[in-house]
Parts: sequence; C-alpha cells; structure tokens
Amino acid sequence: MQEESFDCIILGGGPAGLSSALYARRANLSCAIIDISAIGGTPSNYCEIENYLGFNKINGWELCERFEEHVDKFEVQKFPYEEIKKIDLVSNTKKIVTADKEFSSKTVIIATGAKPRKLNIKGEKENIGHGVSYCAVCDGAFYKNKIVSVIGGGNSALEEALYLTRFAKKVYLIHRRSEFRADKIIQERVKNNYKIELILNYSPVEISGEGKVEKIKLKNTVDFSEIELNTDGIFPYIGLEPNSEYFSGQIKQDENGFIITDNSMKTSQDGVFAIGDIRNTPLRQVITAVADGAIAGVGASKYILENYKDDITNEVGAK
Ligand code: NAP
Repeated sequence: MQEESFDCIILGGGPAGLSSALYARRANLSCAIIDISAIGGTPSNYCEIENYLGFNKINGWELCERFEEHVDKFEVQKFPYEEIKKIDLVSNTKKIVTADKEFSSKTVIIATGAKPRKLNIKGEKENIGHGVSYCAVCDGAFYKNKIVSVIGGGNSALEEALYLTRFAKKVYLIHRRSEFRADKIIQERVKNNYKIELILNYSPVEISGEGKVEKIKLKNTVDFSEIELNTDGIFPYIGLEPNSEYFSGQIKQDENGFIITDNSMKTSQDGVFAIGDIRNTPLRQVITAVADGAIAGVGASKYILENYKDDITNEVGAK
C-alpha cells in the first residue's frame, strides 16, 4: 500500500472538520479530510437551523453543502467512506490506516463528532428500522397521520418533535423531568403546538410490538407507576456519545469519552487537536464547531512552523 503524506489530516468532515480544513489550507498546509461516511456531518440530518448567524433559517444539509463547496475551492483532498482501522497519534509523524489506504501527517485534527445515545431498554435494538429511529429528517415522512413518540428534553428532542408534527397526527414528547433543557423559544413553540402532548416525569422502560413498534411502556420518575402508550414510531433524542473509541489510550478523554482540549484545541498529544462535538465543550452548536475548526486550523499551522520550519511548499489560493 502506498502511503499518502500530508501536513494536516482532519478526521471527520462535518462543520468543525471543514472549517479547520479551510483555515489549514489558507495557511498553506497540505490537507486531507478522512470520514467514515459522506462529507457533511450530523447537521446534514437536522431539519432546520435557525441559530447560525447570517441565516434566519436554513436546512442542515444546505448549510453543510455550502461549507463543503467553500472548502472545495481550496483543493482539500477528501476521503469519504474510509473507516480508521489503526491510528498512531503518539509518534511525531502521525499514522492512520484505513481498509485500503495508509496516511501519514505532521498534525491531526480530530473532528469525528458524536452519535445518538441509546435508551438501552428492551425492544429498542430489535426495532431499529421497524419504528425506532434516531433521525426524524430521514424517517419522519413514514409517519404520515400516525402517532410518534419523541424521548428527551434537550434542543434535539424538542426541535425534532416540532418537525414530526408536519407528518404525524400526534407526537408524544416524553421527558424524565418536568423542566426542559431546550432553548426557551423552542419550548414555547412546543407548548403551543396542538399536535404535541407532553408526557412529563416519565422514562421509557420497554418497547413492544409484533415485528414493528406498537407500544411504549413508561415508568413515572416520581411515584414509579407505569403506563403504556400506543405509538407507531419512537425517536430517542437523549444526548450524544463521542465517536472517540479509536483514540482511547492515546489522547486524554473525560469520564464520558469526550476529548479534553485547552483553549487552542490542543489535546494531550503534541500535534493533535480536537474540535466540535467530540471535545469536552460547554456548547455543541454548528457555530461553535466552525469556530473550534478555525482555531485548530491556525493551531496546526503554528505547530508546523515551530516544528518543521522549512518544510511547507504547497501553493494555496481559492480557485
Ligand atoms: P442534551 O441537550 O444532552 O439533552 C438530552 C436530553 O435527554 C435531556 O433532557 C436528558 O434529560 C434526556 N436524557 C438523557 N438520558 C436519558 C435517558 N436514559 N432516558 C431518558 N431521557 C434521557 O442532548 P441533545 O438535545 O441531543 O443535544 C446535544 C447537544 O447539541 C446540546 O449541546 C444541544 O444544545 C445541541 N443542539 C443544539 C441545537 C440547536 O441549537 N439548534 C439543536 C440540536 C442539538 P435531563 O434533562 O433530565 O438530563
């Protein structure tokens, strides 16, 4: 296998990764993005984003498409659908091996994001694709005039519950407390939507049905009584787990697996940066992800200037 060498390899092609590529390329670094799936990242699956400055409202996929088009003008090499098989972030020259490629790089920016946390209850795993879905944008249209249940009390749960009212005749919003974490403006919209019924102080305990989701059993978190609701679909939005398993043992992570960085996005390993949802950040938004990316792109360039002075030869400029 022939090895491809870069100044900066970015793992993950979501908003954080794309932004870091833009800044790294503009600092003249040769640069590649490796992603396990398509370039674009999680926000491609968001219905609408209305807190990205400059856009009153924009589809997640459209915003990500614009990010990618912008980065494409700077000739960043992209390697979508490449899963990391082996990685060495400890040596001076970082190494990444995928199924059929080998890469080396002076710096690595980790932007692999996070995945939906699972409920881990009976009937969840068995019904994925048969009524349990973690993506309202992908699957919402299958629930025209049906009843769906959304689990969670954060921005994702409330925003996706609202989105699902476009199709479903009824949306149960099931939350384990009586207070939501979501932004107040979204809470107001949820409370004013006649299709959404709030089921507060309940946690799901079991999903059941014959070959597809039909019921969800809930336990009251105050008096521990149980109820059962008829539902055709279940959309858990109960937070995120970092895609950080590849880096265990090489990079310092917090107790939940999120990568610990300083203000410059530097990790515990020289030449390795972490940005976006995978970082132990106080806020996970597209706007904070792209800001992280800018800081890391510049940081990678500084690192190379300090450690590999005469070695940057690539010409850069927008097409
Ligand atoms: P989140 O803010 O962490 O909220 C997770 C929710 O799920 C919480 O309400 C939590 O309840 C509940 N929960 C956790 N574990 C549970 C379990 N086992 N059973 C039942 N309920 C459980 O997660 P998120 O909404 O996915 O958002 C993730 C990040 O992305 C956040 O930083 C969020 O602000 C951001 N985000 C932003 C936007 C936006 O700005 N437009 C959109 C989507 C997401 P408790 O409240 O009781 O802990």
